Amino acid sequence: MHRLSQESERRRICFWFAIIVLVYNTAQLHSQESLTRPLSESKPHYELSDGVFNQKGDLPIILSAPHGGLREVPGVSERTGSGLKSGPSGFFTGRDSGTEELAHAVSDAVEKRFGKAPYVVISRVHRKFMDPNRPADIAYEDAIIKPIYDHYHATLSTYCREVTDRFQAGVLIDIHGQGTRRDTVFRGTKNGLTVSHLRATFGEAAHHGPKSLFGLLSARGWTVHPSQTSEKEQSGFTGGYIVQSYGNQKASPIDAMQLEFGAEYRVMGRRAKTAEVLADALAEYAAQYLRVVIVKQ
Ligand SMILES: [Zn+2]
Repeated sequence: MHRLSQESERRRICFWFAIIVLVYNTAQLHSQESLTRPLSESKPHYELSDGVFNQKGDLPIILSAPHGGLREVPGVSERTGSGLKSGPSGFFTGRDSGTEELAHAVSDAVEKRFGKAPYVVISRVHRKFMDPNRPADIAYEDAIIKPIYDHYHATLSTYCREVTDRFQAGVLIDIHGQGTRRDTVFRGTKNGLTVSHLRATFGEAAHHGPKSLFGLLSARGWTVHPSQTSEKEQSGFTGGYIVQSYGNQKASPIDAMQLEFGAEYRVMGRRAKTAEVLADALAEYAAQYLRVVIVKQ
């Protein structure tokens, strides 16, 4: 009996000794790994290209789409908007469905129509985590998102500078979706403020009327607002942070327009046609106001 209990005591000690050795070795291994591993990898890590699609172009046309993304960001909670006023121009987490795909389709159609690619910046992240069409202080709530948000704007800013240097003028089309009128596309330029270079250089007819981009789209069958008869932009769709930031810079020759597409223009079966019509109107616009020679017809 006594020998048996001695044996079991010996086994118990051996068992715990083995556990202690195992735990010590594991801890050692981890501390060595953390010395050799870059710091960023010890935190939840997210590649910038997972959050933002960007494409350097060869035309004075820049496409932006901040609200169509579907991707979740691991380890980040959804925004709560605590303390912010809600609504389409305030805190809102609903995505503009189909606009990520539409932006890619417009890029492809422009490349086909012009023979050269436009500049493109598209958010892949769902709006419930980040809203690139808002100033940084209300655009996200988790610090993990900051590099993704900064990347979106740094890229857009770089592209605007590049277009200015290469072409001395350019247009930024900020692509959105609205649920107010299915058959309509609304334009937002802060009633002309974010296209001040266009208006100063070519006059009001370049901004409003048959020779404006919306006039050219109307002639191609789109229902647009402002229309030929009403000149004022629709309240709520007058243009957000992106067009105000990049199209309203003093002495900048970048004109920025927010386009709010109704569902009929961005549902899966219609996107390619929408993109083709927009590319065709942009070709006429670019020939008149950007002095772009279009090689392909
Ligand atoms: Zn939007």
